[in-house]
Amino acid sequence: MSLLGYIRGEQPGYFKTIAVQRAEGVGGLGEYLTEYALEHGVLPGRRAVFRNVLVPRSTGPTGESEVDVLLLHETGIYVFESKNYGGWIFGSAEQRQWTQVLEHGHKERFYNPVLQNRAHVRALAARLALPEDAFRSYIVFSERCELRKVPDDTDAFLICRRQNLLKVLRKDIKARGRRFADEEFDRLSARIGELHEASTDEAKAVHVEQAQRVLAGEVCPRCGGEVVRRKGRYGEFYGCSNYPRCTFTRKV
Ligand SMILES: [Zn+2]
Repeated sequence: MSLLGYIRGEQPGYFKTIAVQRAEGVGGLGEYLTEYALEHGVLPGRRAVFRNVLVPRSTGPTGESEVDVLLLHETGIYVFESKNYGGWIFGSAEQRQWTQVLEHGHKERFYNPVLQNRAHVRALAARLALPEDAFRSYIVFSERCELRKVPDDTDAFLICRRQNLLKVLRKDIKARGRRFADEEFDRLSARIGELHEASTDEAKAVHVEQAQRVLAGEVCPRCGGEVVRRKGRYGEFYGCSNYPRCTFTRKV
C-alpha cells in the first residue's frame, strides 16, 4: 500500500483496514480497498460507487451474476473484479484457467477473471438496456502479486494492480467522452440502486450455495442444469440434464 495513496486519501488508515480484514477475510478486503479508492480518490466527473450487486441473468450456471464493485460514471460504467492474490500470475484472454505460482513453485489455478467479469458486464448490459461498449471491465490485482504474463488491455477490459488503479482510471476517463447526461445517469443510478437493495444477505447466500454446487461438479457450469451420470458407447460420463439443449460433459 503506497504512502502517497494514504496522503491523497486513496487508501484507508491502517486500523480501519485491519478491522475490515478481520470482519470480511482477505477476499472482502480487496473489494473494500477498491471501493475505498473509487469513493475517496480524486476523480473528475459525476460518479456513484456500488458494492456487491447481484444481477439477475437468463443464462449461466447461477441465476445471477455477482458484481464486486461498480462505478457509475458520466463516461460509462466501470465494473471491477478484485483478486487479492500473491505470487506470479499467468494467463491469456481466452484460457479458461489462469495460474498462480507461489513460493517453491507451488501452483494454483483460478477461473479466468477476464471471462468472469465479461459475464458480469453482459448481465448488467441486459439488465440496464445498454450496449456492451458502455462498460469497461477492470481486473484489479493486489500489490502482493506480480503479473508475469497477462493479456494486453483492449477496448473492453483492462488489467492492473491496485496501486495503479486510480492513475489508470483517470487516464481512461479522460480518453472517453461524456456518455450519460444527468437524466440518464439518474435513471441508471436508481436502477443499480434497486439491484443493490435486492442483494440481501439471503439472496447472496443462495447465490454462493449455487456457485459452490457448480464448483463441486453437481451443477452444469454452462447452463445451471443438474449434472447426471450417464452411460455412453465409450463408458460412463457426467453430462448435463438439459441435453440435447446443453452438451456439457465431464469424465467420471
Ligand atoms: Zn448444461
